[in-house]
Amino acid sequence: MGTVEEQKVQQKKAFGWAARDTSGFLSPFNFSRRATGEKDVTFKVVYCGICHSDLHMIKNEWGVSTYPLVPGHEIVGVVTEIGSKVEKFKVGDRVGVGCMVGSCRSCDSCANNLENYCPKMILTYGGTYYDGTTTYGGYSDIVVADEHFIVRIPDNLPLDAAAPLLCAGITVYSPLRYYGLDKPGMHVGVVGLGGLGHVAVKFAKAMGVKVTVISTSPNKKKEAIEHLGADSFLVSRNQDEMQAAMSTMDGIIDTVSAQHPLMPLMGLLKSHGKIVLLGVSEKPLELPVFPLLVGRKIVGGSAIGGMKETQEMINFAAKHNITADIEVIPIDYVNTAIERLVKADVRYRFVIDIANTMKSSSSS
Ligand code: NAP
Ligand code: ZN
Ligand code: ZN
Repeated sequence: MGTVEEQKVQQKKAFGWAARDTSGFLSPFNFSRRATGEKDVTFKVVYCGICHSDLHMIKNEWGVSTYPLVPGHEIVGVVTEIGSKVEKFKVGDRVGVGCMVGSCRSCDSCANNLENYCPKMILTYGGTYYDGTTTYGGYSDIVVADEHFIVRIPDNLPLDAAAPLLCAGITVYSPLRYYGLDKPGMHVGVVGLGGLGHVAVKFAKAMGVKVTVISTSPNKKKEAIEHLGADSFLVSRNQDEMQAAMSTMDGIIDTVSAQHPLMPLMGLLKSHGKIVLLGVSEKPLELPVFPLLVGRKIVGGSAIGGMKETQEMINFAAKHNITADIEVIPIDYVNTAIERLVKADVRYRFVIDIANTMKSSSSS
């Protein structure tokens, strides 16, 4: 690894797009990545998905952001360099990095392959790495990460449409499994048909579950049923439709990114039904207790998934041909894409074509 001085010399020039303040406006940004350490994999980023969490973060909606902030945690690419002690990857491999790049590797969560719940988990961007540097995400040309936090993208998955699996995919797959909402014949509701929601429909269907989409957008109905494979579709503001579906669901995966009422959703659950909250709205949700008591219902949460489960999810996706439905965009469309994401105007995930459109010569 060499001395600190030597490592500085070996640092890699990197180029990305960063937000500089709470406006969230992204613009070109030059920075450096650490030299490839002995357990590190360095890869050229080919595509990066735009998660709604990127939007929350660039605008500091959760109050934890620091600037400059290079977002992006649905990163896929091709390995260009490996450290001397890397065991699982070689140059040329198709790989990805999701929401985290470090954890303590010794606590109970880490020991149980739940690095995502490690108190010292390091986020892919906006986190502080062991060497004290700030982590920068995948709206950039290269990534350096410890091989433990790298997943392999199976050959039959296209890199662009696989990218969103690194966050959206694992975020919905993990709670379907953990909360036992993966049993054939069960009925699961998916609230919010965006990036997370549309892959939740695909995973749940592949598990043999009956799926109902609950949406604020009536214009998504045809596609949800005919294209994504949902069994039925409820418009959450249509009280007649919601009333007719009362007490029919074993579970609900709630992916809504904004404040919304839980009461109507709880009414959809059968006794012992579970509602799993995945969205992190800027303002807190109100929890009505009475409908919880009546029917012993459960409200839970879930955050991404551990590295072992993330690879398992990707392999499951490869087996069942599950990828995201994407709109591939050039990097200089990113600010427009973010504006459209605010309005839920995307079918169903934006993915940035980094390799072909991010050129450091456009740096300012
Ligand atoms: P997205 O693509 O923007 O989808 C969110 C969907 O929620 C929208 O498409 C819309 O669906 C619905 N929605 C938006 N505003 C709404 C409102 N005011 N009331 C009701 N429904 C509304 O976002 P995403 O990338 O899927 O992320 C969703 C949320 O999950 C975000 O808060 C994100 O930060 C969070 N997240 C959490 C984790 C985790 O580990 N738990 C991981 C990733 C993301 P319809 O048009 O169908 O109504
Ligand atoms: Zn995400
Ligand atoms: Zn740990």
